Amino acid sequence: MDLTAYRKNIEPDEIGHEMYKLMAELYPICRSITGNGLRASLAILRKHLALDIHEVPTGTAVFDWTIPNEWNIRDAYVKNNRGDRVIDFQKSNLHVVNYSIPVRAKMGLEELKKHLFTLPEAPEWVPYRTSYYNETWGFCLAYKDLLGLQEGEYEVCIDSSLEAGNLTYGECYLEGSNEKEVLVSAHVCHPSLCNDNLSGIALALFLAKSLSGLSLQYSYRFLFIPGTIGSIAWLSLNQDRISKIKHGLVLVGVGDQGKFTYKKSRRGNAEVDRAAINVLKHSGKEYEVRKFDPYGHDERQYCSPGINLPVGCFSRTPHAEFPEYHTSADDLNFVRPEYLSDSFAQCLSILYVLENNRRYLNLSPMCEPQLGKRGLYRMIGGPKDVGVEELPLLWVLNLSDGEHSLLDVSEQSGLDFERLKRAADALVQNGLLTVLGD
Ligand code: ZN
Repeated sequence: MDLTAYRKNIEPDEIGHEMYKLMAELYPICRSITGNGLRASLAILRKHLALDIHEVPTGTAVFDWTIPNEWNIRDAYVKNNRGDRVIDFQKSNLHVVNYSIPVRAKMGLEELKKHLFTLPEAPEWVPYRTSYYNETWGFCLAYKDLLGLQEGEYEVCIDSSLEAGNLTYGECYLEGSNEKEVLVSAHVCHPSLCNDNLSGIALALFLAKSLSGLSLQYSYRFLFIPGTIGSIAWLSLNQDRISKIKHGLVLVGVGDQGKFTYKKSRRGNAEVDRAAINVLKHSGKEYEVRKFDPYGHDERQYCSPGINLPVGCFSRTPHAEFPEYHTSADDLNFVRPEYLSDSFAQCLSILYVLENNRRYLNLSPMCEPQLGKRGLYRMIGGPKDVGVEELPLLWVLNLSDGEHSLLDVSEQSGLDFERLKRAADALVQNGLLTVLGD
């Protein structure tokens, strides 16, 4: 089965629910850019997908960066003088600054406060903080809970380790009929946060799962990597493969109710940019297209000047533009299966366009061929499920001069890519059109 046939058989709603279920399973795990939480998460993904797990040792040089020490954490708390845990890692892993060094100490409130982070503007929410490359420790808590802390001595414990180990990432390669690749990348380093992190992971996983076993034009590479250092490590360790990547998408923040946002690759007019914009334009959904900027997610690395891959970023509300971003409020209530399924459907359509964006040659270009005698004319008046319409036929015939791809035809005609593809298939079947190679 190819992607065209597959798309007719799927139930995006069902997939949205499965994505949500996977996110709920991953949600409690304390992930980071390295460590056992990341491994445990990849092990869960591996139940769905043939995923290669790679371990890159601490100290490995990757371009201008070095793989850091591996961080693991078992427990963390702040106890008051009655022995109550007033801040407790066991209740939420967001309570500890991610990558905190181990600590066991007693201190007064004044001293403790130097290590506490809150969000006064959202007093119920716990912020998400990290300190990967600066050795320190800290706790995050709701501002309202900070106000409740009394003067007195506190016992502080962070039972963590920061030692030589590995950076772990997951990779799934699906072989297509040629070795040109489509890259799909999601970061996997955030702990209990849903939209930023888990939604992108779930979308990438279910896209990979959907494509597995299909007959594909492109080969597909899915990366489940810690943000920034993971993409830098992959690019540095796979420099011989970079030139095979012809299109790419970073997936993040796809489970909230906001409109779709597509951020273009650095190139700005790459085929993946045009495919994504084409799909969103015909989706009937609200969307926004943005130019590339060197801020955001792993597209920063894929689109660095020396790499300059055609990789865009697909999301709903962009990072930092929703108040719940990087707080405990980005939880399982903030994301919904219906938004996930909608994101899945749009991304699958983008891949469908890439898979089918070919150039054709009109084999009867001297005036219009007579469609009527081939049963192609006025099929629009026939039963609906014939699926071939006159206008797309005429557009495909006219622009199939070897120069224009189906995406060009779609852009010039304003017609939906899928209608044009059906027309092209009918014309090929009737000997009026032939597919051109690259
Ligand atoms: Zn983030």
